[in-house]
Amino acid sequence: MNIHEYQAKELLAQCGVPIQLGIACQSLDEVRPAAEKIFASGASRVVVKSQIHAGGRGKGSFKSGFQGGVKLAATCEDALAFAGQMLGQVLVTKQTGSEGRKVGTLLLTAGAHIKKEFYLAVLLDRANSRPLIMASTEGGMDIEEVAEKTPEKIFKEWIDPAVGIMPYQARKISAALGLRGDLIALGAKLISGVYKTWWENDATMVEINPLCVIEAADGKEALLALDGKISLDDNALYRHKNIQAMRDLNEEAPLEIEASKFNLNYIKLDGSIACLVNGAGLAMATMDIIQHFGGNPANFLDVGGGASKEQVTAAFKIILMDPHVKGILVNIFGGIMDCNVIATGIVAAVKETGLTLPLVVRLEGNNVVAGQKTLAESGLTLITGTSMADAAQKVVKAVAA
Ligand code: ADP
Ligand code: MG
Repeated sequence: MNIHEYQAKELLAQCGVPIQLGIACQSLDEVRPAAEKIFASGASRVVVKSQIHAGGRGKGSFKSGFQGGVKLAATCEDALAFAGQMLGQVLVTKQTGSEGRKVGTLLLTAGAHIKKEFYLAVLLDRANSRPLIMASTEGGMDIEEVAEKTPEKIFKEWIDPAVGIMPYQARKISAALGLRGDLIALGAKLISGVYKTWWENDATMVEINPLCVIEAADGKEALLALDGKISLDDNALYRHKNIQAMRDLNEEAPLEIEASKFNLNYIKLDGSIACLVNGAGLAMATMDIIQHFGGNPANFLDVGGGASKEQVTAAFKIILMDPHVKGILVNIFGGIMDCNVIATGIVAAVKETGLTLPLVVRLEGNNVVAGQKTLAESGLTLITGTSMADAAQKVVKAVAA
């Protein structure tokens, strides 16, 4: 699960990471009092930031033509005008794809006097089975580009998960960022806090871009996490009630929300061949083989090892809600799964939805004879696949026709 910047900053603050307290606004009515409050606290500028689950907002543009999802306002009127251009509008950034994301929330914060921008992230390095801290002096910009063109500018430090981040490691990263004097210790403290945020919330990624050296109100240099992005491990969400409450359904694909109600693992894709499969590995292999024979999968869908008739029916309905779907491939290998349950589910779903699209079914394994009998006696027009390759070729051909 992903959360918004303003929510990420709450979690970071709880772990001692210096952030600017801001005010999240869901409607224009809330914007003026929020901006007034921030100006009254001594800020010379107010930053209006679109909250969407994607980065690159600063350089993004709205479908309305308005440029920039992050704007600096010098007056309350400006802040209100920017907010009016952002709220309810669709923001397109490098990370959103061309469809963009509708902005439902704005974060208003004080404008900081930025002297330097760095990059800092903690993520899970699966290859090394360890948390990895990445830091770079090239902050504020596209880190993928830095990684590609000047990989030597990204400093990496692996953390032993049983020990946690050692003070010397935090200082080493601080020094690698070129921090000097008092800022080294401040940096080490901030880096430890970011690691703590990652660890305690079961995050898969915490990214601060930019992490800034700023000129504070007293004229001294200080550090500030100006942006924050956190992705969380869904499998650990059950133990974080506070984070569950941060879920923003507006940011999730409607079909995926529907699927999660039935405990179905569904991810929408761009192709035209829907697939209904049991087991994640088989589902991936099915997508591969569709592609191999020249088709394009419309989704990933794993109905699980022990799906019920109701789940199969729900899965069919969800698949059919995608207007791009031109054909369906059911690929079931019954290990735990009873093929006849799937067959009964298919028959019920086809009758209930009045399916007219080509449907290719490949059943194999546990109770397959009864399953095939159910399908044969149903009177439905469906195409039987004798193997995975056969089924994939048949569905690709049917959709092309
Ligand atoms: P994104 O990464 O989605 O573009 P950021 O929060 O990183 O969004 O903002 C983009 C840029 O806007 C930052 O790199 C920074 O230069 C500027 N910015 C963001 N917040 C502030 C702030 N509070 N004060 C001054 N500048 C800011
Ligand atoms: Mg950023």
